[in-house]
Amino acid sequence: MTDTVARALPAAIPDAEWSAAVRMVRELASGGRVLLICHVNPDGDALGSMLGFALGLRSLGVADIQATFPGEFEVPAPFAAMPGLDLLVAAGEAWADPDLLIIFDVAAESRLGALADRLDRARESIVLDHHASNTGFGGVQLVDPHAAATSVVVEQLLDRLDIPLDRGIAECLYIALSTDTGSFRFDMTTPRVHEMAARLIATGLRPAEISRRIFDSRPFGAMKLFADVLARAELEPGAAGGLGLVWTYATLDDLARHEQRPYVLDALIDPVRCVAEADVSVVVKQVAEGEWAVSLRSKGAVDVSAVAVALRGGGHRLAAGFTGYGTPSEVMATVRDQLNHQTAI
Ligand code: AMP
Ligand code: MN
Ligand code: MN
Repeated sequence: MTDTVARALPAAIPDAEWSAAVRMVRELASGGRVLLICHVNPDGDALGSMLGFALGLRSLGVADIQATFPGEFEVPAPFAAMPGLDLLVAAGEAWADPDLLIIFDVAAESRLGALADRLDRARESIVLDHHASNTGFGGVQLVDPHAAATSVVVEQLLDRLDIPLDRGIAECLYIALSTDTGSFRFDMTTPRVHEMAARLIATGLRPAEISRRIFDSRPFGAMKLFADVLARAELEPGAAGGLGLVWTYATLDDLARHEQRPYVLDALIDPVRCVAEADVSVVVKQVAEGEWAVSLRSKGAVDVSAVAVALRGGGHRLAAGFTGYGTPSEVMATVRDQLNHQTAI
C-alpha cells in the first residue's frame, strides 16, 4: 500500500504555463491551423474536453480547427450526439504540420499512436491533462493531477481566454466531468467540481437526459455480453496482500457472438468494481490476438496507477490501465506480481 504517487504530485499549474498557453492560443489561433487531439479509444473526458475547447475556439472566430484521435475512427454510441462532432476528422486527414497542437487527456505520447509525430511537426503545442502518471511531454504543460477531469483544466483555460460557456461547450464539459467522476461519486469530487457542474447546468443543459444517454442506455446484446463475461469473474480474497482481487476477461469472440463494438466493454468495470470482498478489480479486454487492454480499479487501499506504470501503462491512483500480452491468465499473473510488490511496500 502506498500513496507515494499522490505525495509526489506537483502543486497547481504555474502561472507562467497558463500565460504561455493563453498567448499561444491568441497569437496562433487567429489565422493559424489548430489541431486538437485526444487519446486513443476516447472516453467522455477525452472527447468532451477536446470538443468543448474546439467549440470555444470556434466562438473566438478561429476558422481552421480540426479535432481527431488515433486508432480506429469510431465515436462510441453514447457520445454520438455530443456537440462539436462536426469538427471531428479521421486521423488520416489531420494536418501534418499544424500551427498549434492542443492535446487532451493524454498521459503519455504512446496514447497518441500514429499522431505522436505531430508533437515534432507542430509549431507550438499545449497539453491539457490530469493524470498523475503524465510523463511531461509537449510544449506548454497544463497538467493538474488534482483535477477530477481534464475538462476542469479546459474550463480554466476557456475562462482565462474570456470565452463564455455556451450550452454546447457546457454539454461537452458536463459529459467529460460526469464520466471521469463516475457521476460525481469518485475520489476527486470536490466542492470545486460541484461548482463547475453548477456553472455548466446553468447554461440550460439537461443532466437527466445526458446521463440517460451516457450511462443508462445500452443495446440488449451488450447486456447479454456482460452476463457472459460477469459469469466467469473470479474472486481471489488472498490476492493484493489480502485486500482481495476480483477479475474477469472478455474476448473478441465474446464481442462477435453478441454483435457488439469494443467500446461497450468500457462500462464493464463498473459492476466488477462493486464486489465488496475485493479492493482491486480488473477487466482484461482482448484487442487483438494475444493483446489485451487492461482496466484496473481500487477502492482506496492500493495505488493501481503504480501497478499500471510498472506494466508500461498509466492512469490515476484508483483507476488505471495498461496493455497486456499473452493469455488472460498470463496477463493476470503480471498484475498479481505487481500487486504483491505494491502491497509489500
Ligand atoms: P480505463 O480503465 O480504460 O477506463 O482507464 C482508466 C485510466 O487509466 C484512464 O485514466 C486512462 O487514461 C488510463 N489508461 C488506461 N489504459 C492505459 C494505457 N494503456 N496507458 C496509459 N494509461 C492508460
Ligand atoms: Mn480518458
Ligand atoms: Mn480524464
